[in-house]
Amino acid sequence: MDYPHLLAPLQVRGVRLPNRMIMGSMHLGCEAGPDAFPRLARFYAERAKGGIGLIVTGGVSPNAEGRFGPDGSVLDDTADLAGHRQVTDAVHAAGGRIVLQILHCGRYGRHAGIVAPSPLKAPINSVTPREMSEADIARTIADYGRAARLAVSAGYDGAEVMASEGYLINEFMALRTNRRGDRWGGGLSGRLRFLAEVVRAVRAGLGEAAILSVRLSMVDLVEDGLDGDEVLAAARAVEAAGADIINSGIGWHEATVPTIAHAVPPGAWTWATARVKGGAGIPVAASNRINSPDLAEALLAEGTADLVSMARPLLADPAFAAKVAAGRPEDINLCIGCNQGCLDPIFSGGSATCLVNPRAGREAEFDPRPAPRPTSIAVVGGGPAGMACALEAARRGHAVTLFEAAAELGGQFILARVLPAKRDYVATPRHYAGALAAAGVTVRLGRVAQAADLAEFDQVVLATGITPRRLDLPGADHPKVAAYDDILSGRIRAGATVAIIGCGGIGFDVAAFLVAGHEPFEAAWGIDRDFTHPGGLAAPSPPPVSARRVVMMQRKRERPGKGLGKTTGWILRAHLQRMGVEMLAGVDYCHIDDSGLHIEVEGKARVIAADTIVTCIGQDPRQDLLAAVRAAGKPVHLIGGARDAARLDALAAFEEGTRLGLEI
Ligand code: NAP
Ligand code: SF4
Repeated sequence: MDYPHLLAPLQVRGVRLPNRMIMGSMHLGCEAGPDAFPRLARFYAERAKGGIGLIVTGGVSPNAEGRFGPDGSVLDDTADLAGHRQVTDAVHAAGGRIVLQILHCGRYGRHAGIVAPSPLKAPINSVTPREMSEADIARTIADYGRAARLAVSAGYDGAEVMASEGYLINEFMALRTNRRGDRWGGGLSGRLRFLAEVVRAVRAGLGEAAILSVRLSMVDLVEDGLDGDEVLAAARAVEAAGADIINSGIGWHEATVPTIAHAVPPGAWTWATARVKGGAGIPVAASNRINSPDLAEALLAEGTADLVSMARPLLADPAFAAKVAAGRPEDINLCIGCNQGCLDPIFSGGSATCLVNPRAGREAEFDPRPAPRPTSIAVVGGGPAGMACALEAARRGHAVTLFEAAAELGGQFILARVLPAKRDYVATPRHYAGALAAAGVTVRLGRVAQAADLAEFDQVVLATGITPRRLDLPGADHPKVAAYDDILSGRIRAGATVAIIGCGGIGFDVAAFLVAGHEPFEAAWGIDRDFTHPGGLAAPSPPPVSARRVVMMQRKRERPGKGLGKTTGWILRAHLQRMGVEMLAGVDYCHIDDSGLHIEVEGKARVIAADTIVTCIGQDPRQDLLAAVRAAGKPVHLIGGARDAARLDALAAFEEGTRLGLEI
């Protein structure tokens, strides 16, 4: 496929974008601390080198009140402009362009000094904001202008004003959060006044040559958000105030509709961008769950948007744009929307990396250096740990052979591909297969390695993975009992009533697989393209009738699913509850017989009359070859689930494989 629209240049004021691909703003969790600027410089320079048309930084507040947390970044007169210079110089030296996002968090800030148009606490925050006075508003607008001026003096090619996702500017725009009776509230023109004044101040601060993008909420997905006409009016207001680009924001952070997780189908929000593009006279960028060049090109070709903004896809593959330009889209390491490496750690106070690309955000730490003494290495096991290790070791000059018993790469990682939300997971082993071939790795598929096969190698890496743990219970060998891999791989078809033992990530995946239907995303989450109510929400449709009755259970007394991903677990739990899946905690398992699974919950006996009982109870390491290789006196490295099955997790496995590949 060709990408003429994606590769078309665009002149924005004094800056020429070589293509229509933007790296969207993303907080990386590494913006504070002594090594912040060198780390950011390295991170963004790598993306610039990878050919992205324009980079938007993570949000930086125009003043102390607007910070996200006590150590959040602020661009004011005390800011370290020389530090910012390191970033802009590195990006420019790599041939890129970068704008600074100015973000005032308003009532979402996590510190005592937060402010908002009205003193209304956000449902996702424990702190109530102080209502801004006239003087606060005037000062804040001036602070935006100052941040823009400082951004230009620090070498940025412009700025993006964050006016979506429920942050301060969005809070002024919506009746939900703006109850003011003065000229900054009330009717639409009052509620849009702060937005327009901020954009004007930023334009003045930037001067005429720099780019001004405004990230505007296309659909708020909260009650008392903007209605459809108000969204269009906001777009016209920012255009009149001097914006050059409108970037798409989708949903407030407090919305109870998923907007970017893998449960959201790719391209799910482009209808909202298309509405604004139809009424705007300046270029509009589409965003959220656009992860492939084919989708991006189609959106531009059909006139939905003029540019495409992608953040996580650039974590997954810094060279995304260069691969499009080179006509090698199949080489792109696609973002699978898992959030496990990026957003989940950020929301737990950590920093972002990427599950499928562990180098992301740690470019200096994971700097490949040629192996001082190249050796021949056998890597046994083509799951995440094995693939990652083989690739990095081969790139450093080792002669690597990868043995995989199955007919394809991926191991446990691709089991979940049968779930609609995880369909993209197949892209990762496909990418690694290409990269391994390019790095000269000999891949032997369908080959159960024997100790004799390993004799010729200098070193052996055992990434042989795990075996699903077996249930230790009277009746556990009953024909009704199946392990999760039998169900997800299709080897065994579950009956009409299913008991799932174990409520970890895999138990939840199996439940989702068993109740999967064909319900459209918008119907399930009550998304209303017609904006019948402000905010674009409608009542969800009644759930489809599942062909199966599913009961999940665990021994712990805590809420099932507590350990799921921070940004995806709530979506999965809500989906399964909607589909009528029963979840039991504090269960004692008694025995299994023809009538089903006998359990006790809070001292009461109960029989789950299951046709199938699926065990999702963790894993044991698979170390079949370890003794033999050790006995042969070979240096042997044990990684991934084969080393520590209790920590079996694709994020850890890719990282562990990468680390060993870079060191071996
Ligand atoms: P897991 O998260 O450790 O869950 C195992 C479940 O089995 C627990 O609910 C545990 O709960 C139960 N269990 C453990 N030993 C048992 C036994 N002997 N008898 C009966 N029940 C037992 O493991 P997993 O679900 O296999 O997941 C493996 C890894 O993959 C995890 O790191 C997980 O995070 C990751 N993963 C993540 C996702 C995701 O959505 N992010 C999806 C899939 C996998 P009780 O002890 O309370 O009974
Ligand atoms: Fe995408 Fe997952 Fe990587 Fe985040 S961790 S960038 S969601 S693949």
